[in-house]
Amino acid sequence: DKIRALVEDQNKVVFSFEYFPPKTEDGVDNLFERMDRMVAHNPAFCDITWGAGGSTADLTLDIANKMQNIVCVETMMHLTCTNMPVEKIDHALATIKSNGIQNVLALRGDPPHGQDKFVQVQGGFACALDLVQHIRREYGDYFGITVAGYPEAHPEVIGSNGVASPEAYQKDLEYLKRKVDAGADLIITQLFYDTDIFLKFVNDCRQIGIKCPIVPGIMPINNYKGFLRMTGFCKTKIPAEITAALEPIKDSEEAVKSYGIHLGTEMCKKILAHGIKTLHLYTLNMEKSALAILVNLGLIEESKISRSLPWRRPTNVFRV
Ligand code: FAD
Repeated sequence: DKIRALVEDQNKVVFSFEYFPPKTEDGVDNLFERMDRMVAHNPAFCDITWGAGGSTADLTLDIANKMQNIVCVETMMHLTCTNMPVEKIDHALATIKSNGIQNVLALRGDPPHGQDKFVQVQGGFACALDLVQHIRREYGDYFGITVAGYPEAHPEVIGSNGVASPEAYQKDLEYLKRKVDAGADLIITQLFYDTDIFLKFVNDCRQIGIKCPIVPGIMPINNYKGFLRMTGFCKTKIPAEITAALEPIKDSEEAVKSYGIHLGTEMCKKILAHGIKTLHLYTLNMEKSALAILVNLGLIEESKISRSLPWRRPTNVFRV
């Protein structure tokens, strides 16, 4: 099924889990065990990323196939243009099509490691818009196509003051609309920690005529250093109250995780209160925080969480 149909026109709130390809065979085995446990909670879909620069192409294709056909969850595979001449793109698309996968997240991709500018590979595409157009041209309506949206604008246009100029933000939005007009039918956002920025972005998208579902990408804070690395890389705004809450607890992994669960829960509550009905969780291949947030929101039952999990309830302080 196409994801848009799974998330749209539902009376209930649905959620999804994102994973990335692990580096080792043991890591892959662990991921499938975790995925099995998480899929038992009925996510609307799960997705698997495409390693930076196409570094995990074969593994991503293999994991996507197993997700769809062995784990049996509606699967979306990410696909980027970095280092991908059109033959390789078509090989990937033909492979997932033959495996019954109907959903693709079409991305430009970041520049290859060590380079700071995206360079179009010979015989390849320059941006996600090209990829969306190609998929629609060559595969008609077979695929549901998701694209990335940036509530704070794409990091390349965020200035040294930490924000994009109003003109750059508007240009980014208009480009997003072109991706949708070219055939994308769902938007998943980059991570954010200021929920108001996400809500404004949705509003701005609607103002310029983007009608497809816009799904918030939620990344629970699991670890202080990882949080700083990720928000630095994506140039994400960190609201002052989050910095103030993390500063005194940053050396305690458990306290940071608990706060991450609390914050994720509060962000999702506010988003749901504004009528958004799908939550996309960047799991970073971990289950505890994502599941704890869903328990707090009443979307899954704590009693159904596997006893074998290294599960610990979020501390009462942060429990909602
Ligand atoms: P595009 O949509 O092509 O846009 C990139 C930038 O260029 C934007 O600022 C856009 O406005 C501008 N631009 C491009 N073309 C035009 C044009 N014709 N006119 C005007 N402006 C233009 N990376 C991976 O390597 N693997 C993954 O699996 C992966 N998954 C992701 C999932 C999500 C939900 C998100 C948000 C990002 C993901 N990324 C992933 C990161 C992504 O590849 C990078 O953010 C990349 O730099 C941009 O990709 P894009 O598809 O958004 O690019």
